[in-house]
Formats: sequence, structure tokens, C-alpha cells
Amino acid sequence: MEPWICATCGVEHEPGATPPARCAICEDERQWVPAGGQRWTTASELRAAGHRQIVREEEPGLVGVGIEPAFGIGQRGLLVRHEAGNVLFDCVALVDEAGADAVAELGGIGAICFSHPHFFGAAVSWSERFGGVPVYVPEADRAWFPRRFGALRTWRDRLVLAPGLELVQVGGHFPGSAVLRWAEGAGGRGALLVGDTLQVVPDQGWLSVMWSYPNLIPLPPAVVEAVEQRVLALDFDRLYGGWWGRVVAQDAKAAVRRSLERYRARAGGPLPDLAPPTADG
Ligand SMILES: [Zn+2]
Ligand SMILES: [Zn+2]
Repeated sequence: MEPWICATCGVEHEPGATPPARCAICEDERQWVPAGGQRWTTASELRAAGHRQIVREEEPGLVGVGIEPAFGIGQRGLLVRHEAGNVLFDCVALVDEAGADAVAELGGIGAICFSHPHFFGAAVSWSERFGGVPVYVPEADRAWFPRRFGALRTWRDRLVLAPGLELVQVGGHFPGSAVLRWAEGAGGRGALLVGDTLQVVPDQGWLSVMWSYPNLIPLPPAVVEAVEQRVLALDFDRLYGGWWGRVVAQDAKAAVRRSLERYRARAGGPLPDLAPPTADG
């Protein structure tokens, strides 16, 4: 029997003759259930519908792992290549043979971790495909992990996965929302992998953060400030969001600072008195 996959968030649940009654992740205030009710699918159905894995280099040593056509929330995971064992940060819902073989050729996976529960994806299937490697979930969000799994490990605050590769709990979107700092990234200037712990927005060089992205529920300014302090204590120049193309290529630390300062200012004070466009502008 195959694991059931929630068709809305893409998180894999326990296998069984009948699907689970509910997806707790989607019933949460931060997500949503479709108008017609909870829907489930399987990896076989996704493959039959033409979904396949995309494995594509983002920069030397960093590889994106996504699904095309996009499925669920549409995120892509990131594989950091490391001599001590590659680390997969965030998972997609599907493991297909071609994609898994491509990852194996890059040295496989030594550990799996996440920005937050929305991106658990098919973590257990990914782990099992690579020999049952450990899957790290923050203690604070452990209850959201929907599968029983012997290789599940909990952590809190900070977790060094390998030299120069550190998972840091910053909170906000979820209590256990995390970022992965990769010291060798961006040519040695440091890269920060954030999923949607911070959201890279379309306006170049800006980010945001929310309690719920689909339902547009903001975070209190005090929580945003706490996230900001945790993130700005880290050294990095480039920042990778959770979707293809959502990247702040340089000066990302300054982008985080100005973006979260603006967020707190708008959330706690009057809107700016912006001049309307002029006829010649
Ligand atoms: Zn779901
Ligand atoms: Zn999310």
C-alpha cells in the first residue's frame, strides 16, 4: 500500500486501505481545505497525471528538487552537497525514480530537515529511498509530523548537521520555523535557506513573513522582531526562498533588515503618505 498524500499541502500520511479522515496541517488556520472537502492522492496517481521531479542546480553545491507541473503548495526543496553527507532542506510530495537517481548521482542524502511542517512533503519516502536517513523535526512542531517513523529525530534551538551547515530555529510562521545556514554558499559569503520562514516577495530585494500566507494573517510586530534578531545574528549574503526563482542573490542580510523593519512599521503605525503618480511619471 502506498502512503496517502494530501492533495492540498502535498504532505504524505500513513498508508492504508482507506485515506485518513483529515489532514491536520490543512485544517489548521494557516492552511485551507478545498470547498469540496479534503482530497487525497498517491505517488502513482501523481506520476500517472504527468507530474515528475525536477533536479536542477541553483549554484555550485546547491541543487533544487521540485515537481513539474507544480503540485500542492508548489515549493521546491534544496539539496546542499557536503562531504560529510548531503542535506535535503524541505521535501516535495513525490519521489520518482529518475529524480531519485539524479540525487543519488550527486551523492544521495545523509539527512533531511525542514523550514516548517507545510514542507514535510514525502519525507519518509525520501528517507527510505536513501536507506532510512534521519529526518529532523523541531520539538515545537513534532506533533504536525503525520507519520510514525523510526528515523525521526527532534531538535530545538540549533542543530549543526555538518561543519558549516547549521539549522537554526527562528519561529514566526510556526514555532519551529527554521532556516539553514550554509557557510560555503554564495562563493563562501554564506547562504541562508529559508523555505517560507521568510517569504521572498516579487519586489526585488524584499521579503515578508506571515502567520498564514494563503489566508493573509500577519504576525505581531514583537514576533517579527524576534525572528529578525535570530536571522540577523547569522552571517549570509544570499538567501533562498522556498520556490524556484525566489532568491535574494546578494546583500540579503540588508534586505531582511529593511523588509522586517518596514513590516513592523506598517503593522504598528500609520501608512506612508506616498505621492500619487504624476502625468509625466
Ligand atoms: Zn494537507
Ligand atoms: Zn508555510
